[in-house]
Amino acid sequence: MKIAVLKDSAAHEKRVAATPETVRKFIALGASVAVETRAGADANIADQAFIDAGASVGDRAATLADAKLILSVQGPDAAGLPAGAVVVASLNPFQSGERLAAYAGGQITALAMEFMPRITRAQSMDILSSQANLAGYKSVIDAAERYGRAFPMMMTAAGTISAARVFVMGVGVAGLQAIATAKRLGAVVSATDVRLATKEQIMSLGGKPVFVEDEETKAAETSGGYAREMSDAYKAKQAALVSETIAKQDIVITTALIPGRPAPRLVTAAQVATMKPGSVIVDLAVEQGGNVEGSVAGETVVTEGGVTIIGHINYPSRLATDASALFARNLLTLVTTFWDKEAKMLVLPDDDEIVKAIRVTHGGAIVHPGLQA
Ligand code: NAD
Repeated sequence: MKIAVLKDSAAHEKRVAATPETVRKFIALGASVAVETRAGADANIADQAFIDAGASVGDRAATLADAKLILSVQGPDAAGLPAGAVVVASLNPFQSGERLAAYAGGQITALAMEFMPRITRAQSMDILSSQANLAGYKSVIDAAERYGRAFPMMMTAAGTISAARVFVMGVGVAGLQAIATAKRLGAVVSATDVRLATKEQIMSLGGKPVFVEDEETKAAETSGGYAREMSDAYKAKQAALVSETIAKQDIVITTALIPGRPAPRLVTAAQVATMKPGSVIVDLAVEQGGNVEGSVAGETVVTEGGVTIIGHINYPSRLATDASALFARNLLTLVTTFWDKEAKMLVLPDDDEIVKAIRVTHGGAIVHPGLQA
């Protein structure tokens, strides 16, 4: 079975879906691997490293010829993909209807990695977690770089510098890593979420929880571990709490997402205006519509009041080498989980919980129940 690893062409994408380490493991399973020229270049993986691992390296046509499994970070265009192949990538399925239709038309079986269920068996295939963790870390590093002051408290002969105050909004995988990173740098950290379960997690990392607590928060978490859209009454209470908290912060990191919906708006421009000049906000939800009023995808904005709002696109790609290594291992685990050792090929059983959750196109149609019109 031939596995193709493509060079991603999306703007701001530096990651690659396989590494020499995973290529070696695919070959040990009995697969052959073809890698597109310069597929790993932006993640600091040279073509020669893939060749040394046993892959062939060539142009796109040669890479795709007879490939049965195609690995990519954001998914390739349907044109030129061999009929019957399986594409595994982060496909952004809710926003990619046209491309999914083209995959279906080309008889491609597409597996959308972001639909991986949050069950123990699938944890090591969870690209959202592996990538969000790095994004949370890098958001704090970016904020620290932009902030014109130090994070830790310093007592020096010339006087004392006070610690930076960091507020993390949304305490999922990215938020937890943001808290941990800010603490390591010596900041005073507080954090908020709608899911009450995060309160203990914040405290265990040395942060201070800032929470609206009412009847609604008890049911804010879905069975899948995600947040629900909250009521207007809850949002009003949350806005009051944010107003009270935000004026005292130097750095705000927002990470709040609700699957399949626009990101919740958590910070208004009026609230941003209460922050001191020099304060920095990083909006990790900017591509899903943004948690912060005034954040712009792909831009760093400075408000009239001197507050910087960072809205980088594709945060994981800013740590392309580590992000690729983890993404590639997530895909390797998926492939090994569904590898038939005797036939030396990928077999995707129709009744498997993971297959049902991530398979978006198959047999010439869009098959995922969440994507039916
Ligand atoms: P996410 O990226 O969907 O959202 C980020 C955070 O924003 C979440 O904590 C969410 O509760 C919060 N949020 C949403 N709306 C908000 C609002 N209005 N105000 C404040 N915060 C808001 O979440 P995620 O990082 O993917 O993690 C969600 C949960 O899934 C976590 O508990 C995580 O530990 C869990 N998880 C489980 C597994 C597994 O079991 N395999 C794997 C990964 C994550």
